[in-house]
Amino acid sequence: MSLGQREHDFDVSQQHPVPASIIQMDDLKLLILNTKVPNALLFTGNNGAGREESARFIAKSLNCFNRHAQTSGFACNLCRSCLKIDAGMHPDIITLFPEKNVIKTDMIKELCNAIAAKPHEAAIRMVMIIDAHSMNQEAGNAILKRLEEPPERTFFVLTAPDLNLLMPTIISRCRHIRFKPVSVSAVTEDLIKKWAIPEKMAKIAARTSDGNIKKAMMLLNIAAPDNKILSEANIYNPSETKTIKAKRWVQANGEQESNNSPDSANKPVDWIKRRHWLLSRLFLLVKPDRPSDLHHTNPAAKSAVISRYASASNTNLRHLSNKNTLNAMMLAHELSKNEELLEDSILIIKLWLRDIAVVKCIGKSSLSTDLVVNRDFGKHVQYIAQILPSNFSMQSLEAIHTAEKRLESNASVRLILENFFLSLISFCYS
Ligand SMILES: [Zn+2]
Repeated sequence: MSLGQREHDFDVSQQHPVPASIIQMDDLKLLILNTKVPNALLFTGNNGAGREESARFIAKSLNCFNRHAQTSGFACNLCRSCLKIDAGMHPDIITLFPEKNVIKTDMIKELCNAIAAKPHEAAIRMVMIIDAHSMNQEAGNAILKRLEEPPERTFFVLTAPDLNLLMPTIISRCRHIRFKPVSVSAVTEDLIKKWAIPEKMAKIAARTSDGNIKKAMMLLNIAAPDNKILSEANIYNPSETKTIKAKRWVQANGEQESNNSPDSANKPVDWIKRRHWLLSRLFLLVKPDRPSDLHHTNPAAKSAVISRYASASNTNLRHLSNKNTLNAMMLAHELSKNEELLEDSILIIKLWLRDIAVVKCIGKSSLSTDLVVNRDFGKHVQYIAQILPSNFSMQSLEAIHTAEKRLESNASVRLILENFFLSLISFCYS
């Protein structure tokens, strides 16, 4: 069964009730304030740009019992209607989403039957079709007439990543609104205001997620239901019926725990800890072998370290190689244990490699700018950037790109990662 109210993925707090996208987009604001909703809206943009949250907020505002008493003209977030929509319990806020990445004709027919009668209780009913580009041509044709002439007191919201993915006949029947990626600073502010995340952690999460609020929330373990990661995969899974509950267990002092082991059983994954663990392991993987080498601060000493490794005797190289090989294989093993966490772990590795490249190009001053994501690991990043050969960044970024491609082809995860980490080590000495 694919039709029904979809679990909501955001709990709108009363302190900060209006989604950032509504505040930033005059089109959407006017649409609510004038109560003039087109028959069909088409929201395009990346995941995390706020498309669904905005649609839900529009539906809430149009149906809010207290709306006219609100100075803002927006939803009150407190009345029965608002609460029902927030809880995903409103019978007239209907969401259709793909099953196994496809919206079939039968699903559209079922939807059309369901909305043939008048709305149950809503002043204005909203039908949201998530990933409308998943409709095959027949399904697309089946919805066309409805988009043009919706049933009584009903409007549609279609979402898609990009306009080009949709049939022109669909596009021409919708009012298109493009959602821009939310800025890193807006995501940071959102995390601080809505979820009371400490500023330092909010910044790390926002930068690591590149302004994707859902990803940032995942990194902070907000909204992770049970033991699941809040990912697009389970958000869009129609068999997933549980309401995704906002769960914040990163407390104000949570960052102090980040030196502990990355995960423990039966808990949501603590991405802040995991990131800390992964970045520390990566540093150990590429840093020169002897701890005393870390204390060289002048350039001459550093170049001496590099040349020592470059001209190391075979015995030394073999020794280094054996130790680092073991580290590489262990890290590959650890990461391959949780394949569902892999994509985000790779993202963390990529951002770390990118940081090294930035510091290598621009220098130490970049550590205090937004160009560097992992600023809390600034000392490590700076050290690596100074000590490793000049082509390390280019080679390692190419290697991770290759590894990603190979992972897409369903090859052995562990072997691909081993290969990648071993290449990373080899680039340190090339
Ligand atoms: Zn209300």
